Amino acid sequence: MKTLLQFTCIASLWLTAVSAHADGLKIVAAENFYGGVAKQIAGDSATVTSILTNPNQDPHEFTTNASTAKSVADADIVIYSGISYDPWIEKLLGTNGKPNRVVINVADLIGGKDGDNPHIWYDPRTMPALGAKLVEVLSKIDPAQAGAYQKRLDDFNTSMQPELDKITQIKASSAGLEVTATEPVFGYMAKALGFKMLNYDFQVNIMNDTEPSADQTVAFEKSLTSKTAKILFYNSQVTDPTTDRIKKIAQQSRVPIVGVTETQPPDEKSYVDWMMHELVGVQAALGAKN
Ligand SMILES: [Zn+2]
Repeated sequence: MKTLLQFTCIASLWLTAVSAHADGLKIVAAENFYGGVAKQIAGDSATVTSILTNPNQDPHEFTTNASTAKSVADADIVIYSGISYDPWIEKLLGTNGKPNRVVINVADLIGGKDGDNPHIWYDPRTMPALGAKLVEVLSKIDPAQAGAYQKRLDDFNTSMQPELDKITQIKASSAGLEVTATEPVFGYMAKALGFKMLNYDFQVNIMNDTEPSADQTVAFEKSLTSKTAKILFYNSQVTDPTTDRIKKIAQQSRVPIVGVTETQPPDEKSYVDWMMHELVGVQAALGAKN
C-alpha cells in the first residue's frame, strides 16, 4: 500500500505539470510499453502519458485514483491492452471524456479474445499492429503530418528487425524446449520461440492472486527437480511466498532462471531494447544448460 501511495502521489504531481504545458494532442496509454511506442510514432505531435510505469507494482492489482481518471478524461487518444488485463480503464472510459476521443483496444488489433493470455505485448506481432493503427488515427487527425507518421512507423518496424532475427535464431536451435514460468507474462514470446510452456494453469492462478492447487504445485516442483523444465521464467512484478519457493527450488535444482517483468523497466530506452535484453537472457540460460 505504501508503494502504491508513493506512486500515485508522484504520478499526480507529474500529470499536473504535463497538462499545464501541453498544447498538442494528448495520448494516454494504460501501460508504459504502449506509451513508449506511441511516442515513437507520434513524435512531437503529442504528449504521451503512461499510467502503469512502476516496476515494483503488480499491474493485475492496480486501482485507479483521481489523477488517472483526469488524464483519461482529458485524452484525445487512449490506448489500453484489453482482454481483462486493464479492466480499470474500461470503467474510466465509461464516464466523461472528450467528444472525439479515439480509444484503441490493442487486443482487438490482433484478434485477442477474453480468456486468452492477456500479456499480448510479448507477442512480436502486437507492436507493429499498434504502430499501424496509430498512423491511421493520427493521420486522420492531422493529415499534413501523415508522411511523418508513416516514416516513424517504418523506422520502428526496422528497429524491430534485430528482435525478430534473434527470435528466429533461438527458435532454430531450441524449438520444442520445455520451459516453465511463475506467471504467464512471457507466454507469447515463449510460443514465438517454439518453446513448450509447462504448468500454465498454475501460472494463471498466480496471475489472479489465487492459491494454485496442491496437484498443480506438486507438478510444478517436479518439473524443476526432474529438470524437465530447462528454464524458469520468473516474473519479478507478480510475486508471493509460492513464487519465492519455486525460485528457490529452481536454484537448488540448477534450472536457469530468466527474470522478466510486466511493465517496461525504467532503464530500458525502448520496447525493442527491453525485449532484446530478455532474449539475451534466454540465450545465456540456454548456454548455461549446455
Ligand atoms: Zn501478469
